[in-house]
Amino acid sequence: MGELGLLGLTIPTDAGGLGLSAVRAGRLLFGLARRGGTVFAKLALQPEFSSLLLHVGTSALRSEYFEPLLRGTKLVGNLITEPEAGSDVGGIQTLATRRGDQYVLNGVKSEAAFAVDASAAIVYARTEGAAAGSRGLSAFLVPLEAPGIERELVPDMGERWMRRGTITFHDVPVPAAHRIGPEGGILEALRGELTHERALLGSIYLGVGWASWSETVAYAANRVAFNQPISRQEGVSFPLVEDWARLESAWEYVERVLQRLDAGESAEGEAALAKWLAGEAALTAVDHAIQFHGGRGYSRRLPHEQRYRDLRSARLAHGTSEISHVVAARALWSGGHSKP
Ligand SMILES: Cc1cc2nc3c(=O)[nH]c(=O)nc-3n(C[C@H](O)[C@H](O)[C@H](O)COP(=O)(O)OP(=O)(O)OC[C@H]3O[C@@H](n4cnc5c(N)ncnc54)[C@H](O)[C@@H]3O)c2cc1C
Repeated sequence: MGELGLLGLTIPTDAGGLGLSAVRAGRLLFGLARRGGTVFAKLALQPEFSSLLLHVGTSALRSEYFEPLLRGTKLVGNLITEPEAGSDVGGIQTLATRRGDQYVLNGVKSEAAFAVDASAAIVYARTEGAAAGSRGLSAFLVPLEAPGIERELVPDMGERWMRRGTITFHDVPVPAAHRIGPEGGILEALRGELTHERALLGSIYLGVGWASWSETVAYAANRVAFNQPISRQEGVSFPLVEDWARLESAWEYVERVLQRLDAGESAEGEAALAKWLAGEAALTAVDHAIQFHGGRGYSRRLPHEQRYRDLRSARLAHGTSEISHVVAARALWSGGHSKP
């Protein structure tokens, strides 16, 4: 994908990316997901998932890690979640203790994508004396071949290409120059990155949902039961026309949020809702695809079961559906939302 120039969609051209607007990137991701499922579309977003390196990282970190990420020669993970802290990042316990010109890292990170495949990761940790809660967090670029690191795979329901797992850090030395952004002050940059990626993920979910929906519309027109195509049965056609409206309206909403991001608006609450709305529309459509393909819809002979398993992560990864609501509610009642 790096060789094809598919990495770094929204990264500015002077930083080595394609410099697409969020709207254009969303359309491209929709197409990738429609044809290839979540794998290529989500891989295409890896630089966006590590954009802290570009926005607040040093030029040395950018050239050693971000540029190879754009070329597809290095994979950089993001380690936020811990066994005792996921949605509530204020509970992160991984500790980075300053010792001269380095930090010493101790802690456990769980649920991590590319746990065994990433060559490095952005690790979120607390430093000694930092403010309590999410406002005291720091980020560090940690090469995952460093001594004191254990990596373990966890068998997953879907998106198995991500090879998720747990990474444990025992007294891992990290150069102080590998800190990304200010000590105890990474939250705002992380929120900006999450906003951008949540809206773009919406386009990916809709591409997957649209693939299953259009295949099911075609199938229902040809599959005969009780002497007529099943599309003539309202029990089949009504859910499919509802999916049509849900997918299209979610698409319009996602595009509108991407436009707002392109216009420089914060749109944090709207992006969280775009991810939730698109994920729900797509999951419902794929569920109907399994149903209306009958018994074979549930089998691995057709792609719907895999799409369903893969898409199910939409309700969990990059902030759960419940957290999407929390973020949107906070924006709505703080006056930080856009007006229709
Ligand atoms: C496919 C996939 C890939 C992932 N990749 C990564 C990765 O690369 N790096 C990484 O760090 N993490 C990753 N995650 C982890 C993911 O970000 C977390 O699982 C998620 O943030 C939830 O955290 P948790 O699992 O600790 O659940 P918890 O935070 O313990 O939540 C448990 C349940 O309680 C609900 N809940 C919690 N707080 C509230 C609230 N205030 N209001 C209402 N409900 C609430 C949650 O929504 C959830 O349903 C990945 C997850 C998946 C499924």
